[in-house]
Amino acid sequence: MIIAIDGPAGAGKSTIARSLARRLGATYIDTGAMYRAVALWALRAGIPLDDMHKLEQLARAAHIEFAGDVIRLNGEDVTAEIRRPEVTDAASKVSIVPGVRRAMRAEQRRIGAENSVVMEGRDIGTVVFPQAQVKIYLDADPHVRAGRRAKETGAAVDRVEREIAERDTRDRSRREAPLIQAPDAEYIDSTGLTPDQVEEAILKIIRKRTSN
Ligand code: C5P
Repeated sequence: MIIAIDGPAGAGKSTIARSLARRLGATYIDTGAMYRAVALWALRAGIPLDDMHKLEQLARAAHIEFAGDVIRLNGEDVTAEIRRPEVTDAASKVSIVPGVRRAMRAEQRRIGAENSVVMEGRDIGTVVFPQAQVKIYLDADPHVRAGRRAKETGAAVDRVEREIAERDTRDRSRREAPLIQAPDAEYIDSTGLTPDQVEEAILKIIRKRTSN
């Protein structure tokens, strides 16, 4: 069973996907963390973020593992480091590179073939698993999304709002696997909802889709 949750930054995907996976006994996969890990390695290695060839080689060589909430890059725990603002920005740049996306997509499909997953990202329901049984497009008002991220990171809301807008534009306008709602995804606006209410809404959709 594949549950795909896509949407822009700060919509609540990680909170919901993690909790849902726990509840369903499925594996939670944060695909954004995979692009972040590649970006971190590129920054450390001093690879220019527009060097498509080197970035693809690096993405293919990257050994990315999930162990609960811990993410490892080539054996090293990088859970905290991939959340740094410069890594966030670099992640949305390396994710434009088709070869990087190809490498991540292959790994995501491999994980999904072996496990029941709740996988969240930007292109899970559209490109990675177009055949997913359950697809959710989770959205929220941009100001509210920025407020949530600011609370998590301790940064100023207006700065976060600008950064998120820039990243959303890049994610939506790239040529390969842009952020769009799959035609058969259910749209949920989490603006005025608690995480529990969003989860309840998704559980209803899961029940409906899996009983058909
Ligand atoms: O979800 P998160 O904000 O951690 O993702 C970081 C970046 O990784 C996004 O801004 C996006 O550019 C990229 N990404 C992607 N496709 C995914 C998940 C994330 O392009 N499936």
